[in-house]
Amino acid sequence: MPDNFSAHTPGAQFFHELRNAVRSENVRTDPAYCWAYSYDNSRRQNVPAVVVLPATHAQVAAVVTICNAHSVPVTARGLGTGTAGAAVPETGGLVLSTENMRNCKIDADNRVAVVQPGCINGDLQRAAAQHGFFWPPDPTSAEYSTIGGNLACNAAGPRAVKYGTPRENTLGLRAVTGDGVEIRSGCYTTKGVVGYDLTRLIIGSEGTLAVITEATLRLTPVAEGRRALRILYTSAAAAARAVSRIMAQSTVPCALEFTDAECLQLIRNYSGADIPAAARAMLIVEVDGRLDQLDTAAAAIAAAAAGEALLECRAAKNADETKLLWQARKALSPALRNIAPKKINEDVVVPVSRLGDFVVALKQISDTHGILIVAFGHAGNGNLHVNLLVDPDDTRQTQQIAACLQKVFATVIDFGGTLSGEHGIGYEKKEFVGLEIEPATLALMKRIKKEFDPGNILNPGKLFPSN
Ligand SMILES: Cc1cc2nc3c(=O)[nH]c(=O)nc-3n(C[C@H](O)[C@H](O)[C@H](O)COP(=O)(O)OP(=O)(O)OC[C@H]3O[C@@H](n4cnc5c(N)ncnc54)[C@H](O)[C@@H]3O)c2cc1C
Repeated sequence: MPDNFSAHTPGAQFFHELRNAVRSENVRTDPAYCWAYSYDNSRRQNVPAVVVLPATHAQVAAVVTICNAHSVPVTARGLGTGTAGAAVPETGGLVLSTENMRNCKIDADNRVAVVQPGCINGDLQRAAAQHGFFWPPDPTSAEYSTIGGNLACNAAGPRAVKYGTPRENTLGLRAVTGDGVEIRSGCYTTKGVVGYDLTRLIIGSEGTLAVITEATLRLTPVAEGRRALRILYTSAAAAARAVSRIMAQSTVPCALEFTDAECLQLIRNYSGADIPAAARAMLIVEVDGRLDQLDTAAAAIAAAAAGEALLECRAAKNADETKLLWQARKALSPALRNIAPKKINEDVVVPVSRLGDFVVALKQISDTHGILIVAFGHAGNGNLHVNLLVDPDDTRQTQQIAACLQKVFATVIDFGGTLSGEHGIGYEKKEFVGLEIEPATLALMKRIKKEFDPGNILNPGKLFPSN
């Protein structure tokens, strides 16, 4: 018996049924193959007993039905880029990979795309662009993450500030519940109010309620033009306060990103960008729309950004300058990982009116616990990637991590925020969920989970606190 089989892995009959349900070359039990599906972008790892690669809805339904009958845990998997351990399977369980489900059909007349879950976000964007459309959710991982994964995490990116997340850009789903039953939610039209909104419920549920087998996505026309502004401040708190002024006026930016002083230094090092030494924070703000409206929109943003501690407000002169600005911003996550491989990355959200207070509070928490905290992110949504740059060889720091993290989360909740804006809960944050969701609501969520998945086979052990 291979090493990756656990005591509860079922026997030959289970594998025989799986091989009848999907082509036998798509049922993989060799340990080396299974190893590659045992981790995601968190530091967790559990090796599954089997990886199955179905190609159709009917095959997904058959696989889930078999797993339910044999009580084998199923973890749906896109490309494993999730950061919260949500795609990490149970040891000895089954990984249902959607790699063979990549189809994507554009219906331009209805501004709709119908996609299989394994379609890569970037592939969908290229198909939609041929018709003058895009699908707004734009995680930095767009070129190597799937629509199924994006939906299951409600993953988004800079554009969410104007165009919303998957929840606002999905019309309907086809899915398989834990007992192998097909369900369809939502509709094909941009209006519809029949029944409960199961689409929004399944989106963000991290594969714990159903396996998504098809999604009907709402497309948006690509704007005629975009203009990016680089806005520098001599104070991070002042820059964060400017965010709420920008969001309080009528020109909605299509991106509003914040970077603090430490991140600015990384950008200087990485890109050689000409950023004055006095700058302690930067906002990248982008507006889009008709070409003849861009000057007015940029002027409105500049007026709102002006004030306390402003050092410079400059519009990118051309597409190349805009591209450089975004390249530097997008390199931040990997650059931080290079300098602090064991960093802890949270993606908390606070109301934009509290961002200034939050940036001040983070500095205090950092000083108290002796751990460098750096922050950047989608400030227009109040969503900051808060990175604790922990040195694993510094015992004093490692002893402080838990208290430091607890204080960050407590502050977020105190300010009326939420623990995760887009990365999700998975294994990593589940013990903190009780800080945000009170017992009665949590109990209702557990009852809902039971209705969808009576055998508790769909991605068990995620999302809910252990006790
Ligand atoms: C460099 C980098 C940058 C990133 N940038 C961003 C960012 O800007 N914004 C952001 O939000 N995230 C970001 N992420 C996180 C990650 O890319 C997203 O969460 C993405 O949506 C995960 O997609 P995936 O295909 O890799 O899914 P996986 O990691 O394989 O799975 C994620 C979750 O989705 C579930 N799932 C997958 N397919 C299905 C399905 N068909 N049905 C039901 N459940 C399913 C899994 O069970 C798991 O719970 C980034 C990650 C990396 C490594």
